[in-house]
Amino acid sequence: MEIKKILFATDFSEGSSHALPYAVDMARRYGAKLYIIHVIFDVAKTVGWYVPHVSIDEIYQDMEKSAKAELEKIFLDEMRGLQGVEHIVLKGIPNEEITKFTGENEIDLIVLGTHGRRGIDRVLFGSTAEQVVRNAPCPVLSVRLPKH
Ligand code: AMP
Repeated sequence: MEIKKILFATDFSEGSSHALPYAVDMARRYGAKLYIIHVIFDVAKTVGWYVPHVSIDEIYQDMEKSAKAELEKIFLDEMRGLQGVEHIVLKGIPNEEITKFTGENEIDLIVLGTHGRRGIDRVLFGSTAEQVVRNAPCPVLSVRLPKH
Protein backbone atom coordinates (compact mmCIF):
# COMPACT_ATOMS: atom_id res chain seq x y z
CA MET A 1 0.00 0.00 0.00
CA GLU A 2 1.34 3.41 -0.95
CA ILE A 3 0.10 6.61 0.63
CA LYS A 4 1.61 9.56 -1.16
CA LYS A 5 -1.22 12.07 -0.92
CA ILE A 6 -3.54 12.65 2.03
CA LEU A 7 -6.52 14.94 2.00
CA PHE A 8 -7.77 16.39 5.28
CA ALA A 9 -11.20 18.04 5.01
CA THR A 10 -12.18 20.61 7.58
CA ASP A 11 -15.21 22.72 8.32
CA PHE A 12 -13.33 24.26 11.28
CA SER A 13 -15.53 22.35 13.71
CA GLU A 14 -14.36 20.59 16.86
CA GLY A 15 -15.09 17.28 15.13
CA SER A 16 -12.77 17.96 12.22
CA SER A 17 -10.04 19.49 14.41
CA HIS A 18 -10.03 16.27 16.41
CA ALA A 19 -9.29 14.35 13.19
CA LEU A 20 -6.36 16.58 12.16
CA PRO A 21 -3.60 14.88 14.22
CA TYR A 22 -4.43 11.59 12.47
CA ALA A 23 -3.92 13.19 9.06
CA VAL A 24 -0.70 14.90 10.15
CA ASP A 25 0.70 11.79 11.79
CA MET A 26 -0.06 9.63 8.75
CA ALA A 27 1.53 12.24 6.47
CA ARG A 28 4.69 12.18 8.61
CA ARG A 29 4.88 8.38 8.79
CA TYR A 30 4.33 7.85 5.08
CA GLY A 31 6.20 10.95 3.92
CA ALA A 32 2.97 11.91 2.14
CA LYS A 33 1.86 15.30 0.84
CA LEU A 34 -0.97 16.79 2.88
CA TYR A 35 -3.83 18.76 1.33
CA ILE A 36 -5.99 20.70 3.76
CA ILE A 37 -9.31 21.53 2.21
CA HIS A 38 -12.29 23.62 3.16
CA VAL A 39 -15.40 23.80 1.00
CA ILE A 40 -17.52 26.92 1.12
CA PHE A 41 -21.08 25.79 0.80
CA ASP A 42 -22.60 27.12 -2.44
CA VAL A 43 -26.15 28.20 -1.77
CA ALA A 44 -26.85 28.63 -5.46
CA LYS A 45 -26.42 24.86 -5.92
CA THR A 46 -29.35 24.10 -3.65
CA VAL A 47 -32.81 23.36 -4.93
CA GLY A 48 -33.12 26.18 -7.46
CA TRP A 49 -32.90 29.17 -5.15
CA TYR A 50 -32.47 32.47 -6.93
CA VAL A 51 -29.41 34.29 -5.64
CA PRO A 52 -28.46 37.71 -7.06
CA HIS A 53 -24.98 37.15 -8.44
CA VAL A 54 -23.30 40.50 -7.90
CA SER A 55 -23.73 40.57 -4.15
CA ILE A 56 -23.23 36.86 -3.57
CA ASP A 57 -19.98 36.86 -5.56
CA GLU A 58 -18.55 39.55 -3.30
CA ILE A 59 -19.62 37.61 -0.22
CA TYR A 60 -17.97 34.47 -1.57
CA GLN A 61 -14.74 36.32 -2.29
CA ASP A 62 -14.65 37.51 1.33
CA MET A 63 -15.48 34.05 2.62
CA GLU A 64 -12.75 32.52 0.49
CA LYS A 65 -10.17 35.00 1.79
CA SER A 66 -11.06 34.39 5.43
CA ALA A 67 -11.23 30.62 4.98
CA LYS A 68 -7.76 30.55 3.45
CA ALA A 69 -6.35 32.74 6.24
CA GLU A 70 -8.02 30.55 8.83
CA LEU A 71 -6.63 27.35 7.28
CA GLU A 72 -3.12 28.73 7.32
CA LYS A 73 -3.38 30.24 10.80
CA ILE A 74 -5.12 27.66 12.95
CA PHE A 75 -3.19 24.66 11.76
CA LEU A 76 0.23 26.28 11.91
CA ASP A 77 1.40 24.49 15.06
CA GLU A 78 0.29 21.03 13.99
CA MET A 79 2.00 21.42 10.61
CA ARG A 80 5.43 22.16 12.04
CA GLY A 81 8.06 20.09 10.24
CA LEU A 82 5.74 18.95 7.42
CA GLN A 83 6.89 20.02 3.98
CA GLY A 84 4.71 21.24 1.13
CA VAL A 85 1.33 21.32 2.85
CA GLU A 86 -1.32 22.77 0.52
CA HIS A 87 -4.26 24.84 1.75
CA ILE A 88 -7.19 24.81 -0.62
CA VAL A 89 -10.56 26.52 -0.50
CA LEU A 90 -13.24 25.23 -2.86
CA LYS A 91 -16.83 26.27 -3.43
CA GLY A 92 -19.75 23.89 -3.88
CA ILE A 93 -21.40 21.09 -1.99
CA PRO A 94 -18.80 19.77 0.47
CA ASN A 95 -19.11 16.01 -0.13
CA GLU A 96 -19.18 16.46 -3.92
CA GLU A 97 -16.16 18.77 -3.97
CA ILE A 98 -14.15 16.53 -1.64
CA THR A 99 -14.88 13.47 -3.78
CA LYS A 100 -14.17 15.32 -7.02
CA PHE A 101 -10.88 16.77 -5.76
CA THR A 102 -9.85 13.31 -4.55
CA GLY A 103 -10.35 11.77 -7.98
CA GLU A 104 -8.73 14.61 -9.90
CA ASN A 105 -5.66 14.73 -7.68
CA GLU A 106 -5.19 11.00 -7.13
CA ILE A 107 -5.50 11.27 -3.37
CA ASP A 108 -4.66 8.01 -1.56
CA LEU A 109 -6.43 8.65 1.74
CA ILE A 110 -9.08 11.07 3.03
CA VAL A 111 -9.21 12.00 6.71
CA LEU A 112 -12.25 13.72 8.19
CA GLY A 113 -14.37 13.96 11.31
CA THR A 114 -17.59 12.04 11.73
CA HIS A 115 -19.26 15.24 12.93
CA GLY A 116 -19.03 18.79 11.74
CA ARG A 117 -21.07 21.93 11.97
CA ARG A 118 -24.74 21.23 11.75
CA GLY A 119 -26.05 23.87 9.41
CA ILE A 120 -28.25 24.16 6.42
CA ASP A 121 -26.00 21.96 4.28
CA ARG A 122 -26.45 19.01 6.62
CA VAL A 123 -30.21 19.51 6.64
CA LEU A 124 -30.31 19.56 2.85
CA PHE A 125 -27.66 17.04 1.96
CA GLY A 126 -27.17 14.82 4.99
CA SER A 127 -23.84 13.89 6.42
CA THR A 128 -20.72 14.94 4.52
CA ALA A 129 -18.77 12.12 6.14
CA GLU A 130 -21.33 9.52 5.12
CA GLN A 131 -21.49 10.71 1.51
CA VAL A 132 -17.71 10.84 1.20
CA VAL A 133 -17.35 7.32 2.62
CA ARG A 134 -19.94 6.10 0.10
CA ASN A 135 -18.53 7.84 -2.97
CA ALA A 136 -14.81 8.43 -2.54
CA PRO A 137 -12.48 6.60 -4.92
CA CYS A 138 -10.00 5.90 -2.08
CA PRO A 139 -10.11 4.78 1.57
CA VAL A 140 -11.54 7.22 4.12
CA LEU A 141 -10.47 7.52 7.73
CA SER A 142 -13.32 9.07 9.71
CA VAL A 143 -12.45 10.05 13.25
CA ARG A 144 -15.15 10.31 15.89
CA LEU A 145 -15.05 12.80 18.74
CA PRO A 146 -15.09 10.81 22.00
CA LYS A 147 -18.16 12.73 23.24
CA HIS A 148 -20.18 11.48 20.26
P1 AMP B 1 -20.69 16.36 8.71
O1 AMP B 1 -20.87 14.98 8.19
O2 AMP B 1 -21.19 17.43 7.80
O3 AMP B 1 -21.19 16.53 10.11
O4 AMP B 1 -19.11 16.62 8.76
C1 AMP B 1 -18.21 15.56 8.97
C2 AMP B 1 -16.82 15.98 8.59
O5 AMP B 1 -16.77 16.31 7.20
C3 AMP B 1 -16.27 17.22 9.30
O6 AMP B 1 -15.72 16.90 10.59
C4 AMP B 1 -15.19 17.65 8.33
O7 AMP B 1 -14.03 16.83 8.49
C5 AMP B 1 -15.83 17.33 6.97
N1 AMP B 1 -16.55 18.50 6.43
C6 AMP B 1 -17.85 18.85 6.65
N2 AMP B 1 -18.15 19.99 6.01
C7 AMP B 1 -17.02 20.37 5.35
C8 AMP B 1 -16.67 21.48 4.52
N3 AMP B 1 -17.55 22.44 4.24
N4 AMP B 1 -15.43 21.54 4.03
C9 AMP B 1 -14.51 20.58 4.29
N5 AMP B 1 -14.78 19.52 5.09
C10 AMP B 1 -16.00 19.41 5.62
